[in-house]
Amino acid sequence: MGQATGGSAAGGPEQQALFGWSETAPAGEARRLFRDGPEARRMLDVREVYAEPAALDSPRGQQIVARLPGARVTEVPNHWRIPSLHGNDGNVARWVRTKTETLVLGVKHTLATRPNGRSADWIAPGPSNGCAMACAYCYVPRRKGYANPITLFTNIEAIVAHVRRHVRAQGPKTEPNQCDPEAWVYDIGENGDCSVDALICDNTADLIAAFRGLPTAKASFATKFVNPDLLTLDPRGRTRVRFSLMPVEDSRLLDLRTSPIAERVAAAADFLDAGYEVHFNLSPVVLREGWQRDWADLLTHLDDVLPARVKEQAAAEIIMLTHNQALHEVNLGWHPRAEEVLWQPAVQEAKRSQNGDLNVRYARDVKQRSLTRLRQLLATHAPWLRVRYAF
Ligand code: SF4
Repeated sequence: MGQATGGSAAGGPEQQALFGWSETAPAGEARRLFRDGPEARRMLDVREVYAEPAALDSPRGQQIVARLPGARVTEVPNHWRIPSLHGNDGNVARWVRTKTETLVLGVKHTLATRPNGRSADWIAPGPSNGCAMACAYCYVPRRKGYANPITLFTNIEAIVAHVRRHVRAQGPKTEPNQCDPEAWVYDIGENGDCSVDALICDNTADLIAAFRGLPTAKASFATKFVNPDLLTLDPRGRTRVRFSLMPVEDSRLLDLRTSPIAERVAAAADFLDAGYEVHFNLSPVVLREGWQRDWADLLTHLDDVLPARVKEQAAAEIIMLTHNQALHEVNLGWHPRAEEVLWQPAVQEAKRSQNGDLNVRYARDVKQRSLTRLRQLLATHAPWLRVRYAF
């Protein structure tokens, strides 16, 4: 657990609750869920469902479709290949419409947990892939393309059973590491955003409930969306939510459809009080003119508004931007201003990955210098924010 040593940590103004999640609804009135309100519908207003027959027949599939009474359902043989849906053709207006109005239901056949060792000990088989948001640097579309709406996997019982077996097979964690001092950490949201998935199904809730009963493990997911419905899920400290943060100026340019940075920061205390561990992903760090000043402003903002109880348990991951030539070319077609900051050949080097993609990252010396500078900014403006890992 980190030491609260900085600025207002030991007695500054307490952050007001953003959502009043703990207020009980008046007698006889059900608490209205965020997912049924207009803000949620701006993110997801599903009118078209493509579903594998087995997904449609499953209890989770039926539950999801029952919540979408007006949606047209089309059966597809495979969630991976829906030619009318996936790909990079078109422009952002079309992608956003697809991401808002289309949902895919599939069955995850390969249930495998992979070792990670950086952010998490393990990457669990995710309950979804694809995303309703549209960040310009996102690596999630690499296989289905940008017009890549959420695919929900409906065999959630099998996913949960697999994870439970895997956790039990590990036994207790005996050596602390950068992921966590005591618990085995499982990333449950590698290929999407669990907070947005929870607008439309209970997969996120089911995984959080499962980890509640696994005292040697912890779920973890990064998010760029504040979904107050997650506050009711009672994770009892066994789920770590990592709010992704970047300077507001970068976020406005690069983080399309996400919750504003100030809202993600303002939600931290509510999530902690609701039983989550709350960490921050400082990511991606994009090097451009003025980046040091803007990161200093962001860290100062965190120091000013986060209450001591959030600071005492917070930790951060720092992830420098990784880009990709194919993504660069797609982005030039719809968001060239993003590429003015993402694509910086003078300071980036390319490396061909195993699957043939040309990935681009900051040159080693540039990266090391920038990480050193960012750690200095942290020490100055948010010394309570322990860095779990920097990459
Ligand atoms: S929120 Fe995450 S998964 Fe969704 S588009 Fe942005 S980076 Fe990708």
